[in-house]
Amino acid sequence: MTTGHDQLRATLRDAVGSAGWLEVSDAPGMVVDFRGIYSGQPVAIVRPGTVDEVRAVVRACAAAGVAIVTQGGHTSLSGGSVPTDDRPSVLLSTSRMTRIESIDPARYTITVEAGCTIEQVQQAAAAVDRQLGMDWGARGTATVGGAVSTNAGGLNVLRYGPTRDSVVGLEAVLADGEVFDGLRALRKDNTGYDLKHLFIGGEGSLGIVTRVVLKLHPRQDHHRTFFAALVELENVHDLYDRACALDHAGLTAFELVPEAGVAGTIESFGVARPMATRSDWYLLGRFSGTSPVDDTATTFLSEAVEAGLLLDAVVADTAAQEENLWVLRDELPPETLFDVKGAKFDAAVPIDRVADYQRAAEAVAAELCGDEAVVYAFGHLGDGNLHLYVNASLERGSRMDPARVDEVQAAIDRLTWEMGGTVSAEHGVGQELLDRVAGQKSAVELAMMRRVKAALDPDDLFNPGRGAHCAPVAADDGGTT
Ligand SMILES: Cc1cc2nc3c(=O)[nH]c(=O)nc-3n(C[C@H](O)[C@H](O)[C@H](O)COP(=O)(O)OP(=O)(O)OC[C@H]3O[C@@H](n4cnc5c(N)ncnc54)[C@H](O)[C@@H]3O)c2cc1C
Repeated sequence: MTTGHDQLRATLRDAVGSAGWLEVSDAPGMVVDFRGIYSGQPVAIVRPGTVDEVRAVVRACAAAGVAIVTQGGHTSLSGGSVPTDDRPSVLLSTSRMTRIESIDPARYTITVEAGCTIEQVQQAAAAVDRQLGMDWGARGTATVGGAVSTNAGGLNVLRYGPTRDSVVGLEAVLADGEVFDGLRALRKDNTGYDLKHLFIGGEGSLGIVTRVVLKLHPRQDHHRTFFAALVELENVHDLYDRACALDHAGLTAFELVPEAGVAGTIESFGVARPMATRSDWYLLGRFSGTSPVDDTATTFLSEAVEAGLLLDAVVADTAAQEENLWVLRDELPPETLFDVKGAKFDAAVPIDRVADYQRAAEAVAAELCGDEAVVYAFGHLGDGNLHLYVNASLERGSRMDPARVDEVQAAIDRLTWEMGGTVSAEHGVGQELLDRVAGQKSAVELAMMRRVKAALDPDDLFNPGRGAHCAPVAADDGGTT
């Protein structure tokens, strides 16, 4: 524990009471990130239960010159939710701010505290015959505040957009302890800068999001999830075009799944193999609607098989079969599935470049790491977003030499930019991408971000040392954008 902050700890303890106080030594899991890569010892851990308690914590920390790192569900994949040891900081968890404040089915909105999990909001919406647009594998743990701060994407971006598109209004505590009340639940409001957007995707660097009004949608009671074996990866754009032509609004998921991940998930989680036909790549998709979509799914699949784009396909007939398919998707990250570490990418490229991108990454990996290297990719194909990993092998416990990881990352990042893509499609910059994002942002763009940060948080109170505004300017000022 950082020493010399006894007075601050006493003040914070008074501010949040015993229910909101956690001894750092009692919460080892909170100071190490989800993947066990980043960690740091905070001065204190507080769990305020109200906006006023958040304000008191902010004021106390600002007075003491101690930073605040905000933690929601702690599922960040870029090291965003843990303190560093570079500067004394207090870890503020939103885990006690979990109230659904109100739900208005007629206005299609729900107002929640930032610590509510995505699943909690999904369930509250379903109870009044409505649906939340946001969804991804960490739904049971990831919070609304975290989703807003990372502008999380996920499985439904095709239909409902990223989190930004679901936020109608929000409230945040600022660095001086004042409250930005942007909770007005209006779909339209053209009265100047729309300031809530600064906090969406701001990675907690401008304030602490305390309450959010989220958009709801009519419940899509009808859905068909399908799993299809691709003849070759190069067919994905054609398949996407066909699916959109049939029912653009109804296409709610269009995900890429590799055979290595299917085999690994079957072995580790005991789920059933969806079909006997095997391929290197599969498509996991879903059509949804307020009326039946059975014909859409079968038409799409049978026409694609006939056109020679798919080898075979199955449509889930029961809830259990559907769940089985989504386990196959949710458990794909290789760090956890195979316990391997190598180079990792959360890239997006235009959808018509996805297959070229994978092939080019395979060529880079073979050149730098030899033919044994595995380029394992899965992800939100419909958004052009590939979670791509280069590993020495998928043998359990495999570790790639860190110098080689750097080389592979630099080469594939260049490839990403050449293809008009981004190195962070949805996980944010956090601590992980600071050096890598620098090559994508121009000096002008980085300077604009720093000016925003300096205007709202001049003493760098919130989440210091993470987020794109902290990236160094590339030596050639450069950038690709
Ligand atoms: C299995 C798994 C699957 C995933 N799938 C996806 C996916 O498909 N798409 C996707 O986009 N992400 C995905 N993620 C990443 C992660 O779930 C998202 O980034 C999520 O938005 C993080 O939410 P959280 O509550 O866990 O936030 P945390 O991890 O706690 O924090 C994330 C960032 O937000 C900040 N923050 C958190 N709460 C607040 C607040 N109230 N105010 C201000 N700042 C705050 C933190 O300081 C940190 O910088 C996945 C993660 C896992 C583990």
